[in-house]
Amino acid sequence: MSENLRIVLVGTQHPGNIGSAARAMKTMGLSRLVLVAPLRFPHHEADALAAGAVDVLAAAEIHATLADAVADCRLVIATTARQRTVPMSELSAKAAAQRLREESKLGAVALVFGRERTGLENEELQRCHVAVTLPANPDYSSLNIAAAVQILAYELRLAMLAAGEVVANGRESADPELEPASQREIEGFFAHLAGYLEQIDFHKGHSPEIVEQRLRRLFLRAQPAPRELRILRGILSDSQRLLRLSRPD
Ligand code: SAH
Repeated sequence: MSENLRIVLVGTQHPGNIGSAARAMKTMGLSRLVLVAPLRFPHHEADALAAGAVDVLAAAEIHATLADAVADCRLVIATTARQRTVPMSELSAKAAAQRLREESKLGAVALVFGRERTGLENEELQRCHVAVTLPANPDYSSLNIAAAVQILAYELRLAMLAAGEVVANGRESADPELEPASQREIEGFFAHLAGYLEQIDFHKGHSPEIVEQRLRRLFLRAQPAPRELRILRGILSDSQRLLRLSRPD
């Protein structure tokens, strides 16, 4: 998703906010920053506040108008601090993240943020399909732009995590060996384990059902990867081999 999703900052006045927005994006695994007519950019304050996310700034595209910045986008979502005169359909941050994720599979999508002082102009809002307003304190509803980017970027990350597009805590590229094993693999393990418990007479005449259910729940909760299941099955097989050796029939 992240290659097809761009974060667009329109007319940002403080370069430090551009840097903070870049940092907010990178912490959530987003990298495509598009700037529309920034007041001052590049700028040392942007670099300073980006911290380790200067690569996001270095790769940022710059356009003169929002129309240019989103010309190829299938879905453009605006963020606004308050209800505008332009009537627009609204989505929650969570629903917007979900829509952006889904549409990004088919092509470019954009999430647009306005100027610090005045937000997005009506003409710009009219280019957007939907708007997101974070339900902030009605008496003080305007977040710092980088804080708004952080919240939306977090929702996007949650949406990507839920869809299995990225994996929590670490790797962004999926290795099937490290993904949870398939249903077939885990059922194979359960069958092996059930046979083994029988073999060592673990149940001592009781019904195996409850114990098997508990073990199932334990292993399903752990979501073992194929490699981990192979280790477990290896332990079972080796024990079975020793059992056969010690009890020759
Ligand atoms: N007075 C301006 C405030 C802009 S704040 C206005 O009323 O629009 C700068 C940008 O941060 C906004 O354009 C929007 O993109 C984002 N933002 C700030 N607060 C927000 C909120 N409560 N919900 C959604 N976006 C918000």
